Amino acid sequence: MSDSESSIPLCEPFLNGNEIKYSGQAIASNWLSGGEFLNLFEQQLADFTNSRFAIGVSSGTSALHIALIIAGVEEGDLVLVPDLTFVATANAVKFLKADPILIDVKSDSWVLDLDLLNEFLESETYLENGYCYHKKTRRRIRAVVPVHLLGNMCDMERLLSIGELYHLAVIEDAACSLGSVQNGRHSGTFGIMGTISFNSNKIITTGGGGAVLTDDEQIAKKVRFLITQAKSPGIEYHHSDLGYNYRLVNPLAAIGAAQMEQLERFIAVKKKVYNFYCNELDLQADQIQRIEAGTDSNHWHFVTLVRNSRELIRFLGNNRVESRPVWLPIHELPIFSKDIYISQNNNSKIISDRGVMLPCSTSITDGQLEKVGSLVREFNRR
Ligand SMILES: *Cc1c(COP(=O)(O)O)cnc(C)c1O
Repeated sequence: MSDSESSIPLCEPFLNGNEIKYSGQAIASNWLSGGEFLNLFEQQLADFTNSRFAIGVSSGTSALHIALIIAGVEEGDLVLVPDLTFVATANAVKFLKADPILIDVKSDSWVLDLDLLNEFLESETYLENGYCYHKKTRRRIRAVVPVHLLGNMCDMERLLSIGELYHLAVIEDAACSLGSVQNGRHSGTFGIMGTISFNSNKIITTGGGGAVLTDDEQIAKKVRFLITQAKSPGIEYHHSDLGYNYRLVNPLAAIGAAQMEQLERFIAVKKKVYNFYCNELDLQADQIQRIEAGTDSNHWHFVTLVRNSRELIRFLGNNRVESRPVWLPIHELPIFSKDIYISQNNNSKIISDRGVMLPCSTSITDGQLEKVGSLVREFNRR
């Protein structure tokens, strides 16, 4: 668009701190793959989230891939995944020739429905040799991946006890929830591993990048090993395992280090945007994601449910305001059409049909918020 003054983007990065300075220093250092900024960024992430280890990787998707491998997911296994998420969560399962069991989300908080999950595990699975199996297909269910959708979190204590009962590894897809906290604990630090994304629309960005969080030293070592081609120590090209090239590179980590310096402020802006829309759009409670008890969401992205979502998106677009629908339910995508979908009311579909993502960049101005607010109110009066 030519007139950037009057167009309002959906969710753009904000690089007004030390990003240019640090990435310039990283390049000047001649350390491009690993280097000081990668070490710094990983330390910042570990300190901020109170995680023992944070390992930088090339994307949130590669973080999920590696986490599922380390959790022991193998060909033919099943992995429990919410039906409403970004496709990468379910794709990562397919990378391993495993398949997701798609569990519907709650109608009010839009995260994994733990009652539904529990009911499914109780009635449709059995335990044998320390593993959980799906009765109908006799396939092993190896892990569950809760997704902290838009920053909200399901009751993680309860999910951990369900995981323990059914011998499931819990891996958190915390791609968009950096800074969300539940009962004093950061998202991504409840499960055996948590994965984060630094894609350009996330709360902090490195352009492309991600991280794996874990408190387990052995797992941390394994992550580092697998993301660097599973190379054995020494100068010989000996590789003991199937490895990947999933490192986060130093100049991008430098951008991340600069972004981390601003994360607290970014979270404050996201919360301000959330409160503005909640107060100014005259929304009913059932048009907004209900935040789960004990959860302090980072409010990464604002979404409201409306009856005529596509019309609202068109109307905003005509007024140079970018908005978007919510993700399609995973079970509706062609590659997942044969996978098991557990649902009572198809909540993921309802949220996907009615959801509109509104502008929420951390660089958004009060004037831009006012403009979006008055357009949405105008649309609702028509
Ligand atoms: C962004 C996102 C991902 C993927 O992260 P990338 O860094 O883009 O690979 C995975 N899951 C969720 C929920 C996301 O929002």
